Amino acid sequence: MTTVSLMTPTPQFANDLADVVRIFWGNAAFLVNETGGGVTVRHTESAQNGLRACRMEMTGGYAGAMENVRPVSDDPLLEKRYHKRQIKQALYGVMKQVTGENPPWGSLTGIRPTRLVYEAMSRGLSLAEAEKEVGEIFDVRADKARLLSEIVEVQSSLPPPGRRDVDLYVGIPFCVSRCAYCSFLSGEVGRGKQLPPYVDALETEMAGVMHLIAEKGLRPRAFYMGGGTPTSLTAAMLGRVLTAARPFLDRAAEVTVEAGRPDTIDADKLRVIRDHGAGRISINPQTAHDETLALIGRKHTVAQTEEAYALARKMGFSHINMDLIAGLPGENLEMFLKTLAWSRALAPESLTVHTLSIKRSSLLHLWEAELPDGTMVSRMVDEGRREAQARGMRPYYLYRQKHMAGNLENVGYALPGRACLYNVDMMEETGNVLAVGAGAISKRVNPLIGRIERAPNVSEIGHYIQRADEMLERKRALWSFDAF
Ligand code: SF4
Repeated sequence: MTTVSLMTPTPQFANDLADVVRIFWGNAAFLVNETGGGVTVRHTESAQNGLRACRMEMTGGYAGAMENVRPVSDDPLLEKRYHKRQIKQALYGVMKQVTGENPPWGSLTGIRPTRLVYEAMSRGLSLAEAEKEVGEIFDVRADKARLLSEIVEVQSSLPPPGRRDVDLYVGIPFCVSRCAYCSFLSGEVGRGKQLPPYVDALETEMAGVMHLIAEKGLRPRAFYMGGGTPTSLTAAMLGRVLTAARPFLDRAAEVTVEAGRPDTIDADKLRVIRDHGAGRISINPQTAHDETLALIGRKHTVAQTEEAYALARKMGFSHINMDLIAGLPGENLEMFLKTLAWSRALAPESLTVHTLSIKRSSLLHLWEAELPDGTMVSRMVDEGRREAQARGMRPYYLYRQKHMAGNLENVGYALPGRACLYNVDMMEETGNVLAVGAGAISKRVNPLIGRIERAPNVSEIGHYIQRADEMLERKRALWSFDAF
């Protein structure tokens, strides 16, 4: 592992600079303003005559230097943003020199690159101009910049959330086993002892939320039940939770329930989900290879996925989302192509192509697994995009994570008219969310101060069960100011 000594007059940006180095050297370690690293990056800067100059120089096994100059902004907030961007780009230039690599997303390290396109458009640029600007400023590859503008185009065709609109999220943090790549806080169902009190707590919190919605005159927009695996609950439990949400479901424009793991699906559960108005479910195979499923701890088979799709279709579900992962342990391009071809026959209406990331809280990290070759995963992701396009789907949301293979992205594709409003609201953070369940985070777009305020629920399941009333109070406080 490379250790980098970062000598900088702006240690407040040390994490941002470390992120830039990790685009190229994924597992690099950092010493900030301390000598002793195998590689040293010296950052110096000066400001005069309204201009700020920044220089980065790398020594110690690698030699490279980059300097850039820009006008200082009068707006302190903008100045901070441009300053950070300037030093990141100088270091990015050095890293390109010393490695000879051209990362697909250039110097971008944030998780939502579409924001940059929206920001450029808010300054009066057309979509094409915004795409070009993002590509040029951040050195984003042309196909990725094009992907961003396609997504913004699809999102712009969707109804935007109004000030009174609210999404409702229900979190079920239980799974039948833990996937090796998972970093979510989800408990294993085990003997199911926690499920009944958890559902009791959800009912309590949900009743309060329904009251809050009525009291504040909020308009239901999208409902999303996720996790974890909601279908870890029994059919009766699912029915209780969905019944508690009924006043919302009856008025919502979209209702999604993640069925997630094919081994948790049966006709009774699907019937309950369907009869409560869910038009969209997710059944996620991740791969079409049983040996990979065994390796990553998903205790189901490819055949079970096929059966779950057949059952859901038979029961009338006309929108099924499918998640796939590019770069799973032991998989090569040929295997991923086989997964894509196999998924064609199941004909999901929307398809999310994830790139494997190894988060610190995952089993893969614990096992010291390494990320697969970035070039191979990049081809997988490109093939996923080609496949989605061939099926008539368009990309409609995208996000990036740290520690992703090849520094790539996760993209949601959907057939025309099938883009999920909730996913877009979450990714672009444009709408209000009331969220119930352990670890769920409610958000309110506060038009008075122009930013998002949050009310998180406690994450630990036992604490949540004890404190559901308090979680409700947090939401009431979030909605206590009168913004309308
Ligand atoms: S099904 Fe989803 S939430 Fe559950 S362990 Fe696997 S990745 Fe994590």
